[in-house]
Amino acid sequence: MKGKKILIAITGSIAAYKIPMLVRLLVKQGAEVQILMTKAATAFVSPLVLGTLSKNNVLIDMFDESTWSNHVMLGRWADILLVAPASCNSIAKMAHGQCDNLVLATYLSATCPVMLAAAMDEDMWHHPTTTSNLNILKNHKVHIIDAQHGELASGLIGMGRMAEPEEIMQHLELFFSSKSILKGKKIVITGGPTYENLDPVRFIGNYSTGKMGICIAEYAASLGATVHLVLGPTHLSTTATRVTTYNVKNAEAMYKKTVSLFAKCDVGILSAAVADYTPKTVSSNKIKKADGILTIELAKTKDILKQLGTVKTKQQLLVGFALESTDGKAYALKKLKEKNCNLIVLNSLQDAGAGFAHATNKITIFDNKGAEKTFDLKSKEAVAADIIQNLITYAKWK
Ligand code: C5P
Repeated sequence: MKGKKILIAITGSIAAYKIPMLVRLLVKQGAEVQILMTKAATAFVSPLVLGTLSKNNVLIDMFDESTWSNHVMLGRWADILLVAPASCNSIAKMAHGQCDNLVLATYLSATCPVMLAAAMDEDMWHHPTTTSNLNILKNHKVHIIDAQHGELASGLIGMGRMAEPEEIMQHLELFFSSKSILKGKKIVITGGPTYENLDPVRFIGNYSTGKMGICIAEYAASLGATVHLVLGPTHLSTTATRVTTYNVKNAEAMYKKTVSLFAKCDVGILSAAVADYTPKTVSSNKIKKADGILTIELAKTKDILKQLGTVKTKQQLLVGFALESTDGKAYALKKLKEKNCNLIVLNSLQDAGAGFAHATNKITIFDNKGAEKTFDLKSKEAVAADIIQNLITYAKWK
């Protein structure tokens, strides 16, 4: 970050309290920081603190009686404009070209790249207007750091928290790292659950949300990879550049799509929670309630990972997952060998905060050369980065 010129625009959100820490991290690493604020933002964090930490006067007004803030030159000076926290209101105004304060005037005239870190309450985050505004900004090449899951100012727990300063730093570092280390690499990733139909209205499924697979896909794409994401049924999705999503419903459909995509890929990363069994027959009508026990016969599904391990060439790499409740290491190593993987990622059901439907995960990665690495409990975004970085080191791509 040394010598990088960072323009930080703070808008009105409680998450503004995290910005002094971000400014400290940036200045410590040798970046030059200039802060802009909306009037609303000054209610959440003091310009005096920000001015002192950034070593530059904080700019709030377009003009006072005698001076005019040159928003055009600000955007030319900066290597990047980071809008953080970006409130729902400012996101909407940015998407629609409104220009009634210094932050918006600077955004509209910025010739430098723009990144934003969203922050708002969960219902606002999920509102279709916010989704479409963010899509507009994505199309305008704004780099979006999505809101995260966690405690919100409203007291609720859900999506909407701004990313932590350390995570915003990671995005900035990644942005400035000239190397797109995975450029030219094609990766197929599976994620999410599978739904195995019993009848037209019922299925056998599991609690996987696909979040881990999506995070891996987004991180790999941010390093330049072309990603094919085969995703089971979930409310989550991604609009990241270089990620193509194939929505599938059941294990058979996931098998067909993944096997055909792997043939033209360099890497397969299989994080989906695929059903091991599927009903032998699917009733074409809704199964009627009756007296006594209902017995359903289940047939084994095809193991996608095993199949890819069988057809894998010397040039291709394969990463599997193991979710275990007991004897994690022993089972993970068995799977690594039996399914001919290069790496296996173990998440234990015994670790609090790890596994399905959590925003966090705790993993250990084993490779087929005998290495083993355990990581702390982290957000799934950060876990995705650990998995991909581990793969890059294993493959000696840097
Ligand atoms: O043997 P087990 O199901 O525990 O192995 C888990 C790993 O295998 C995961 O990477 C999972 O995505 C993959 N898998 C698969 N196809 C299946 C079952 C599991 O690809 N039918």
